[in-house]
Amino acid sequence: MEINEKLDNFLVLEKGMSFKDLDEAKRVMGYYAVSNKKGLRVDHGNNIRLRYKCDVGCLFVCLISVHNKDQRFKIKTLELKHNCQPAFKNRRATQQALAHYFKKNVQNNHKYKLKDMRRDLDDQFKLNISASKMKKVKRIVLEKLDGSYIDDFNRLEAYAQELRDSNPGTDVMINISKKALEQGKRRFLRMYVCFQALKSGWRGGLRPFIGLDGTFLKGKCRGILLVVLGQDSMKHFYPLAWAVVDRETSRT
Ligand SMILES: [Zn+2]
Repeated sequence: MEINEKLDNFLVLEKGMSFKDLDEAKRVMGYYAVSNKKGLRVDHGNNIRLRYKCDVGCLFVCLISVHNKDQRFKIKTLELKHNCQPAFKNRRATQQALAHYFKKNVQNNHKYKLKDMRRDLDDQFKLNISASKMKKVKRIVLEKLDGSYIDDFNRLEAYAQELRDSNPGTDVMINISKKALEQGKRRFLRMYVCFQALKSGWRGGLRPFIGLDGTFLKGKCRGILLVVLGQDSMKHFYPLAWAVVDRETSRT
């Protein structure tokens, strides 16, 4: 389920809802609690069962347990009735749940300030998060992003080979920085991809003409995305090849 600003995909729970593991179940329950402004507590829990009740003692109950058939976690018992007031402190807003919530926004803007993150939660959910907790949340997000970027760069060469193997005739080129290599480091510089199917498509049916466009990449991995475009007789554009480069120069 997509995590949007208002968390409105999490407003409603349903009996039978299933989760891949307990962490996912906990996160979804956290988002349910935050988006509905309900304080929930785990009234019974171990590694195969979790039962949530309302902090205040409403009729609300949600029991999640492992389903023997597929080993997924499912909502087995559910009563959604609350008669409590909105909760402004919410122990279900865990650091992990908040880190997931902010992931995209921090990825797009590393300068997203702690005070703005806190204000946005207050605006959105009337949720009060201390400055020190928010600091930890942001650190979790940044650490996770660093880890996932490193993983992705390490997989790039294998990805390129997979593209060449599964699409014969396809060009994939990855340049790494010579300067960094002299210091014994492998640092990504640029990458170019052109699928064989697009090459033959261009020769087969498009106008003998190509266009070029570029756009700046935002977020942590800066650079420029260059796209080569072809055009058919109806003047529709088609991408033919693309490259991620450090700078737009005649060479790149
Ligand atoms: Zn309640």
